[in-house]
Amino acid sequence: MRLRRLILPLAATAALAGTAAGPAAADHAWANYHWARTGTTFTLTLGDNVSSAWDPYLDQASTDWSGSSVLDTSKATGTVTNLKRCTPPTGRVEVCNATYGNNGWLGLAQIWASGDHITKGAVKVNDSYFNTSSYNKAEWRRMVMCQEVGHTFGLGHQDENQTNTNLGTCMDYTSNPLGPPSNVAPNTHDYDQLVSIYAHVDSTTTVGAAAASPSAAGAGNSRAEWGTAVRYSRDGKPSLFARDLGNGEQVFTFVTWAE
Ligand SMILES: [Zn+2]
Ligand SMILES: [Zn+2]
Repeated sequence: MRLRRLILPLAATAALAGTAAGPAAADHAWANYHWARTGTTFTLTLGDNVSSAWDPYLDQASTDWSGSSVLDTSKATGTVTNLKRCTPPTGRVEVCNATYGNNGWLGLAQIWASGDHITKGAVKVNDSYFNTSSYNKAEWRRMVMCQEVGHTFGLGHQDENQTNTNLGTCMDYTSNPLGPPSNVAPNTHDYDQLVSIYAHVDSTTTVGAAAASPSAAGAGNSRAEWGTAVRYSRDGKPSLFARDLGNGEQVFTFVTWAE
């Protein structure tokens, strides 16, 4: 069976993401979505729109993901004027925090794609929860920031069961970020997955291709604006939504729910 798994085509392997029992193979891209780039490595800009309470966690996520051999992230001054929307310009990721309300979610990652190519991304962390004693903890802030930023590269979750043993990666659902093992940072499996996603080069680039005025279409904070649920976690909650914006463009919303 092991050999059979290994020779599955990439698309079939990706479809199994989230159902695998453990980190046996790099298989948690959620589809073929990736940033287009013409070189073998690239640097993605993370726009910093976060408050001082979040800065250390954004810095940590940037450092942690830059451990990848195929990509680096660099923090830059944010361009967002409306933190509730957190609309990114084309070619980069904007990271925002705000009191988004008691709407059930701790964090969102929103990824716009044209065909298979990611064109921009947004990360939102919800202070309506992180300001409470349950979530105002370093391990929760670090894990959620790490996970939402990870989604903007094209990574899915390694596991969507909140109550099983941690896999030791921030891309694993858990109700106990400290574990052990701790789920606050990426693991080797995540870096391997990035190598797999970015093994090819494209003839164009979507990295850093800034548009003059970003479109806010798709940058919503409520379920009604996210489109159709396309993945569900072990406990039956939707973990990924897709909305068709027309002209071959889609926006995907990954949701980290509060307990
Ligand atoms: Zn490509
Ligand atoms: Zn997630």
